[in-house]
Amino acid sequence: MTELAVQGAEPKLDVEIITIFPEIFDSVLQTSLVGKAIQSGIIRVSRTNPRDFVAARYKSVDDSPFGGGPGMIFKPEPIASAIEAAESQRGRAFRIVLSPSGRLFDQAMASDLAHQGRLMFICGRYEGIDERISEVYADAVLSIGDYVLAGGELPAAVVLESVARLVPGVLGRESSTVDESFSFGRLEYPQWTRPVSFKGRNVPEVLLSGNHAEIAKWRRSESLRRTSLNRPDLLARYPISIEEASLLTKLTPDER
Ligand code: SAH
Repeated sequence: MTELAVQGAEPKLDVEIITIFPEIFDSVLQTSLVGKAIQSGIIRVSRTNPRDFVAARYKSVDDSPFGGGPGMIFKPEPIASAIEAAESQRGRAFRIVLSPSGRLFDQAMASDLAHQGRLMFICGRYEGIDERISEVYADAVLSIGDYVLAGGELPAAVVLESVARLVPGVLGRESSTVDESFSFGRLEYPQWTRPVSFKGRNVPEVLLSGNHAEIAKWRRSESLRRTSLNRPDLLARYPISIEEASLLTKLTPDER
């Protein structure tokens, strides 16, 4: 199943999704940013269903775990057949298995993946996928966070959307991805738009001042305040600059 795209130029990002629930992606692939990128031919997305590769009468793709335990495990053969069929048509992709026990996906990985050209998402279900799929096929095993979902489809959509918006030409202004949360290991500063006054709360004066140097400095300070409040782990991971060190001393103990 391949999404319709404008004929002609090769897409900048060619995505394959291996899933037993291809319909989960319908609205994601038709709407907004990803939908537009597909329509304009910058991104192409194909979906392959492992169920189509099972000969058995009941088309079973799962079986009980060796060693016992609850639930079912995705069998390796239908997924392997789906991967190989997809690649024989569209070429070798950078293969990503979605799993809560994978490496934690982040913005730096999204930037790297945006330059891979071909990506494949392998979505688990049940209690997960037979380990040999990761051993034999995975280039990366990724988790989107420390919680467990029922399948790899929503995680794949999360990774796809964050990668898609970094592919050149997908966002209107490429600069709009530079300032954002996590780009420099800091959360983004808060933002306001019209009206100036809303429910008795006003937009901070400095943003109305037209003084760009002051605005930039204030925003760096707000980024730091938020990061130290909500994500102290980022402060520890990404070194604090001299300017930030001096801004930090100006925050009240509550804000630090
Ligand atoms: N028993 C497994 C959970 C399986 S959840 C465990 O405890 O680790 C079923 C499928 O959902 C997984 O195979 C994976 O593809 C997907 N999934 C669930 N949570 C996820 C997460 N946080 N990140 C990425 N994939 C996830």
